[in-house]
Amino acid sequence: MAGIQLIRGFKDILPGETELWKYIEKIAVDVFESFGFKEIRLPVLEHSELFARSIGADTDIVEKEMYTFPDRKGDLITMRPEATASVVRAYIQHKLYAKDPVQKFYTIGPMFRRERPQKGRYRQFYQINAEVFGIASPLIDAQLIFMLTTIFSRLKVADIATHINSLGCPVCRPEFKKALSTLLSSVSGKLCSDCIRRHKKNPLRVLDCKVPACRDAMSDAPAILDFLCPECKEHFNTVKATLENLEIPYHVDKNLVRGLDYYTRTTFEIQTGSLGAQSAVAGGGRYDGLVKSLGGPDHPATGFAIGLDRLAEIISAKSDDLLQNPEIFIAAIGSQSRTAALEWACRLGIEGIKTEINLTDRSLKSQMKRADRLGAAHVIIVGENELKQGSVVMRNMLTKDQISIPVQGLVANIKQTLKGIIH
Ligand code: ATP
Ligand code: MG
Repeated sequence: MAGIQLIRGFKDILPGETELWKYIEKIAVDVFESFGFKEIRLPVLEHSELFARSIGADTDIVEKEMYTFPDRKGDLITMRPEATASVVRAYIQHKLYAKDPVQKFYTIGPMFRRERPQKGRYRQFYQINAEVFGIASPLIDAQLIFMLTTIFSRLKVADIATHINSLGCPVCRPEFKKALSTLLSSVSGKLCSDCIRRHKKNPLRVLDCKVPACRDAMSDAPAILDFLCPECKEHFNTVKATLENLEIPYHVDKNLVRGLDYYTRTTFEIQTGSLGAQSAVAGGGRYDGLVKSLGGPDHPATGFAIGLDRLAEIISAKSDDLLQNPEIFIAAIGSQSRTAALEWACRLGIEGIKTEINLTDRSLKSQMKRADRLGAAHVIIVGENELKQGSVVMRNMLTKDQISIPVQGLVANIKQTLKGIIH
């Protein structure tokens, strides 16, 4: 019988990959913390209503991608498809604004969407999120984009482009929707069946369709930027001017809308040429109406999400550099030596010196081969003779130099020797 396999669209992140994931997370956390963001950890399950009310009932996510099911008592619950709604829920529920009107959060974790699995598109994927509450100023939008590009440049990701747009506000967007609807009627023969439905329910979504024919038809779509009210125009101009000031290159993309209903004004996406059709590695924007519409105070908010899976894919080529090879491999011959080796390995471990040992009865040659395969920097060779004589051999695997190290105070001696090599 074939072994049980994981569910389609889900994946394991294995040793060899996790090193890179941790490295990415560390860089992101470093950047967040130096910009005053605090971590928030949220549940994976929420009441389904939270997402229907925030993301929007007529969006792809809510209509067909959510993992929603009744729990044993019949309450409808959903595995979160994104984090912003939950962050807003927590912000309102715990009155996080009461302490300080400005709150900045980051969170990292899995999201679930039942999309068609393909490269860069999974049913469980991971996001790194940043959200800011209480700042209406366009300056923070630019600062978020700056932070995002800082994370990418610290990770040495080349081949990315920052796309920005404004979605206006409830004052100016209706006019644009009308103009868009007029165009949609004239090109409806060219649109996919989803977009024909979207035209009626949520015309902005058509701009977000990935089907090439729809994209073509939308190249002549009116630009929302031509419909912005003076306040929204001013807001967008300040975002652009601030990005220029911060020397962040950007493209204005008139059709950039994003797949969630709650966005207002600034929206942005980081796109890469290295991922084929799944070109968005991060996306975000302002969602000024969301806190209020979920029952909270009328506080502005803005944020972004990085797709961790996609980000890892575009830098995976370099992940070999991140593999942490052992500093010390102890090749022990004979059972007495293995007992000694285990104790040394434990003590070296406590000192933070990464150590591997051999615990089976194998020849020195096969142990040296294993040390080589693991990429150990040094091998300690110990047999019954060495124990008797009170000193072991330490071999530098790169230079092949061998030195003798006294068994008495071995851990301190090794530490000292390694220090000498590093300096
Ligand atoms: P796309 O347009 O590619 O479907 P999206 O607009 O649905 O992305 P968001 O909801 O803005 O994506 O999520 C932010 C980021 O999360 C995306 O830029 C992407 O990198 C990542 N992401 C979204 N959906 C998936 C998925 N199914 N698998 C892997 N990563 C994803
Ligand atoms: Mg999507």
